[in-house]
Parts: sequence; C-alpha cells; structure tokens
Amino acid sequence: MAKIKYFYNPNTCTYERVKPTLTDISLSIFLFLGLSLFMSVGLTAIYSSYYTGEKEQVLKEENQELLEHFNILNKEVAELQTALKSLQQRDDNIYRVIFEAEPIPTSVRTAGSGGTEKYKELLKKGLKKEKLIVETRNKIDQMKKSMYVQTKSYDDVAKLIKNKSEMMSCMPAIQPVANKGLTRLTSGFGMRVHPIYKVGQFHPGIDFAAPQGTPIYATADGVVEKVEFEGGYGNHITLNHGYGYKTLYGHMFEMKVSKGQKIKRGELIGSVGSTGFSTAPHVHYEVLHNGEHVNPVFYFFKDLTADEYEKVLELASKPSQSLE
Ligand SMILES: [Zn+2]
Repeated sequence: MAKIKYFYNPNTCTYERVKPTLTDISLSIFLFLGLSLFMSVGLTAIYSSYYTGEKEQVLKEENQELLEHFNILNKEVAELQTALKSLQQRDDNIYRVIFEAEPIPTSVRTAGSGGTEKYKELLKKGLKKEKLIVETRNKIDQMKKSMYVQTKSYDDVAKLIKNKSEMMSCMPAIQPVANKGLTRLTSGFGMRVHPIYKVGQFHPGIDFAAPQGTPIYATADGVVEKVEFEGGYGNHITLNHGYGYKTLYGHMFEMKVSKGQKIKRGELIGSVGSTGFSTAPHVHYEVLHNGEHVNPVFYFFKDLTADEYEKVLELASKPSQSLE
C-alpha cells in the first residue's frame, strides 16, 4: 500500500495531501515489475542448477553401477570359457580316444564368428565402453559356437558307443565248449607236433578234448558262412562275425546250423566229434581277424576269471602234440 503524504500550506494554514504525479506512479510500477522479474529469474536459475546437478549425479552413479555389473559379467563369461575348454579337452583326450575317433581340430573348435566386423553398428555409436562391450559379446559368440561343436561331438561319441557295444558282441569272447576246471584245453596255438606226421607244424587254433556229442557254442554273434563236411577239418563250421572277425569249429560230430543263419553268442551250433584228420574227439577252434589266424586264447575274456585266464594262458603255451 502506497504511503499517503501531506504537506503544510502556509496560504491556507492547513496540511494538504500530496497528490502523486504520473511519473511517480509509473516509476513505482516499473520498480515493482523489475524486482519481480529479477527475483523470478534468479530463483529459477538457482533451482534448475541445483536440480540438474542432482540428476547428473544419479545418472553417473547408475552408469558406474552398470559398468561394474558389466565387468562382473565379463569375468563370469571368461570362467565359463575355461569350463568349456576343460570339457573340450576331456572330449578330445578321453572320450574320443576310447571310442577311436579323431580329435576335433583346434581350428574347428575355435573358428571365429566374424570378429569385430559384426559389431560395426555398435562401434559406430561411439559408446565410451565399446571395447568392454565388444569383447564380452565376442566371447559369448565364441562360446555359442564352441558349445555347438561340443554338442555335435557328443552326438558322434554316442553313435560310436552304440557301434562299440555291437562290435563287442561280435568279438569272440568265450570258449566254444564248457570247460569247468579247465581240463579240456589240450593243445595251444603256434608250433606243435603233428599227431599223425610227428613233425613240428604250425597249429592255427586251439584243441579242446571232450567226449563225442559235447555241445559246441558260437563264441560271438554272427552269421553262418560255411557248413562243410570234407577235408582235414572234417565236419566244420565257419562263422562270420563282422568287424573283421571269423571263427572256425572243426572235426564236429553233428552240425546244427545252416549257411546264412544268424547266430548269437552262446548259441548251440553242433557237437564234438573226430571227423577229418583227428586222433581223438575234440573241437579244433580257430579265430581269424582280418584274414589272419590269431591266438584264440586272447579271446576268452568273457567267461574266465583273472586266475582262470592265467591258467588258460599257461596251458595253451605248454609244448604239446595237437589233436589236429
Ligand atoms: Zn587243432
């Protein structure tokens, strides 16, 4: 409220009210508006400078926090990479070795996924922490690729395991006659005295002496390749087991299978006799691997204990006369 001013008029001897001039009024209004403007601009400036500072601070803190998380993530990715590498090493040095598969070349395992070219867009943005981001993404991409290669490798090994178990059942692994007490093995593989000619001769199999009619069993899964009645072997059967293995059973009395028949290990195929060049009832048993005669004694691992196996090895290596 503007002050009311008075002045003394000597002519009238009274106090009279001072009437404000137009200039005074204008000056007051101008002063008031000026001050108001000054105050509002000032206050706004103070407020906004304080507020912006606070916002920036929050963003800075957030940024720092994100960066820390990214660094932790990057370290964790590196740890995963190490774990994956150990899986790869096991795969190459254990699983693939056991199942006779070639190790996967390092170049395939570590094949790049396009390098940093892939992250061009990211680099273009000019992000301050681009090196860290590109490095992390690169590591993750590499891992994705390696994990794919690893999964494929496990598939291969799984297939090989299946084949291997098939192969194991096709590998001769038992004796062709029951041999409790190991009394039937009479002549081993190698140089032996011929029972008829009485001279040293290579004996390509093992003889098991047994009474005529004693059952003879297939020593592995396979197919009957030959059923023959003639020659030095007399009545004899050849089984083809695949994977390079064949077995022959000679001097049989009866033959109970026919050519082309599928056979399982342990299945009865005939009985002991003394047909062909033979001096007493026995089965002459041969194992062939890739066309070569091998010592059958190494293919009895399935039905013998460690001690029995020792005994068989000893018996088979004794100098003796074959029954042919
Ligand atoms: Zn023999």
